[in-house]
Parts: sequence; C-alpha cells; structure tokens
Amino acid sequence: MTNGHLMGTYNATPFDVASGDGVWLVDTTGRRYIDCVQGIATNALGHAHPRLIDALQAQAQKVWHVSNLFGVAEQRLLAQRLTEACFADLAFFANTGTEAVEAALKAARRYHAVNGELERVDIIGFSGSFHGRTYAAMNASGNPAYLDGFGPRLPGYIQLDLDDDVSLAAAVNSPTTAAVIVEPVQGEGGARSLPGAVLARLRDLTRSHGVLLIYDEVQCGMGRTGKLFAHQWFDGVEPDIMTLAKALGAGFPVSACLATADAAKGMTVGVHGTTFGGNPLGMAVALAAFKEINREEVLVNVQSASADFFERLEGVRSRYPDVIAEVRGKGLLIGIRLIPNNREFMAFARDQGLLVAGGGDNCVRLLPPLTIVADEVMDVVARIERACEAARTALGKAA
Ligand SMILES: *Cc1c(COP(=O)(O)O)cnc(C)c1O
Repeated sequence: MTNGHLMGTYNATPFDVASGDGVWLVDTTGRRYIDCVQGIATNALGHAHPRLIDALQAQAQKVWHVSNLFGVAEQRLLAQRLTEACFADLAFFANTGTEAVEAALKAARRYHAVNGELERVDIIGFSGSFHGRTYAAMNASGNPAYLDGFGPRLPGYIQLDLDDDVSLAAAVNSPTTAAVIVEPVQGEGGARSLPGAVLARLRDLTRSHGVLLIYDEVQCGMGRTGKLFAHQWFDGVEPDIMTLAKALGAGFPVSACLATADAAKGMTVGVHGTTFGGNPLGMAVALAAFKEINREEVLVNVQSASADFFERLEGVRSRYPDVIAEVRGKGLLIGIRLIPNNREFMAFARDQGLLVAGGGDNCVRLLPPLTIVADEVMDVVARIERACEAARTALGKAA
C-alpha cells in the first residue's frame, strides 16, 4: 500500500481499518485483531463503547462547537469532576497531549513572571521522556530523535538523566529554573515506571527551591495504572500541575492541564487560548468517559488484569529468554523489551492477529482497554507466545 497524497510521517499497518468493538479491531478484508494499541492508550473502554456513543450522539444533536467566547457548562462540570479527584483546583481544556503540555509549561513560566521572578524560565526534562511534538514539548523531552532537523534547540530547556542526582540537585537549585516535567510512568520511552522514592525526591527538591513540579500523565493517567492518576500510588508526591489527554476522552480528542490555584495564578484573561479546546462534543464524551473510568470495579480490574498479564508474560519470558529480555511497566501500560527488533516483532504479533504498540528501548507496549477480561488476557498472551516462536525461528534462520 502506498501513502498516496499523505505526507510520509507514519509507518502505518499494511491494512485499512473498518470497525472496532471492545478489544477487537476489524480490517477492511474482515480480518479480526485483538487490539492492544487502542488508539495509543486512548480507548480506555475499548472500541464503540455504548455509553460513549450515546453521549456523543446526544451532544451531536445539540451543539458541537461554539469556542471559548461562550460559556460551556460541561467544561465547568468536567473541571469539577477532575479537580475533586486529585490535588488540583483549576483546569484548562485543549485537544491533544502536546497542547496540554504547552499549557502546563506556559502556566509555569507565567507563575514565576507574576511573582516578579522573570528570570525563572528553565524547564528541566528527563531522558527517555516523551511530551509531544510541538517545539516546547519536544525541547522539554530533549530526545534527539524528535529534535533532529528542526533547527536549534530552544533556550530554556535542560535535559537530565533521572538517576543523575547531583546534576538534578544543582539544576533545581538554579535561580533560573521554572519547573520540572516528568512522566510518573514513561510511556513512549518504553513503559518505565518511576519508583515512589524518585517522585518524592523530585517533590521535595522542587518545593524547597520554589520550582514547580509538572506531571505529564497524558498516557499513564485516567486509570491506566489502576489508580485514577499514576502518582496517586504514592503519598505526599502531588505535583503543582498535571497534564492529561489520551484516555481523557476515551478516544475522542480532548486534553487538560490541571493545576493548583497558586500554580495557575498567571493564567489570566488573554494570556492563553485555543479555538477548539473544551468544545461541547469533547466535554460530553469526556464526562461520560470519566464516569465509567473512575469506578472502583474498573480500577480494580486494571490491577487484577495487570497482575495476570505480568505473571503470564513472565512465564513466556522464561520460555523465550532469547526473545524477551524484560517485562516492565505498571497497570495496563506494559512494556516488553525484546532481543529481536521490536518492529519485526510487531509484524510477527500482527500475523498472530494481535496489535501491539512500539516503544523506546526496543520495547513493544500492551495498552489494552481498562475493561479487558481474563479470557482476553489469556488470548493476548497466547498470541504473544506464538509471536515469540516465530521470532525464534527467524532468529535461527538469520544465525
Ligand atoms: C502521547 C503523549 C503526549 C502527546 O500527546 P499528543 O496527543 O500526541 O499531542 C504527551 N505526553 C505523553 C506522556 C504522551 O504519552
């Protein structure tokens, strides 16, 4: 298949998608796949969830889009739901993850500006992170693969290794530092879950130097780890600002930047905006998604399905140590670090009717719906085992 008139920015599947239902995705030839990509961790309730369809259709009959020149009651309601569930007081809605990150970084710099500390502009990010593809987001991540060919790196961004305590302490202590941005579980970087002690150290350091702490929970938030927000696994590590997107609309594009009232104090009339952000369609779907995801049974299901996955995948790893190097991640953000090339493995999995996402560090990620049931977990793992067998055969032929 050629890309026709599409820019060549993606390496898409050799098939076109026709429809989806729960964990299943069907291509235009009628072939069915178990979908552990789920729109890249967005479809937290699987494809075609009836209550999300109802919410979208009901809102579609009323009003789609009016812009933020008008009051939208659903925005206030969703902001209330989200802030009641975490440390935050205020929300700003946008459409995509990178826009939520943009809002977070702007809020952080504005905070220091209105405090009269205009020199505080530097943003500290970490290796292995991913914050999106706008200039601010890719500079905050600092990953060379995303920055290559886009001109000079922006000033005001510092990239550190998470285990480099000495540089981190020095950077946070600098009078020009505005904020630290970190994913509590790194997603695109390959499902790397940060220990509570790392988050606690970041929290203590930033607080004691008047630096803001931003959690990018675009991928690990909204139930993905078995708590509503990933940092809620640990006590006393709440950030000042948090970004959400992916599963916030359970497949509909909507994102949010949440903050304490103090951290958001620079976000006053006219300083930031978006045409589509907070539109009624997105708000209606996100409200319905929130209601479904923020249920005890769903979060408990994530935890039990996750335990089941990890146990079974460890079994596969022990039978295929020549294929799987490590199983890691948290909740249903699962990374399988491979010995053969991860892109090749994705094709072997696809041959077995299983769709998995790529990731950094030669990983593939499993990002199933939060509602996946035990039989489906078993089915996914059986297909992974068959893909491992195919990978082993290919490795043998290559040797
Ligand atoms: C996907 C992702 C983003 C970017 O989201 P987009 O909707 O693609 O702009 C930012 N941060 C994290 C942690 C992500 O996983």
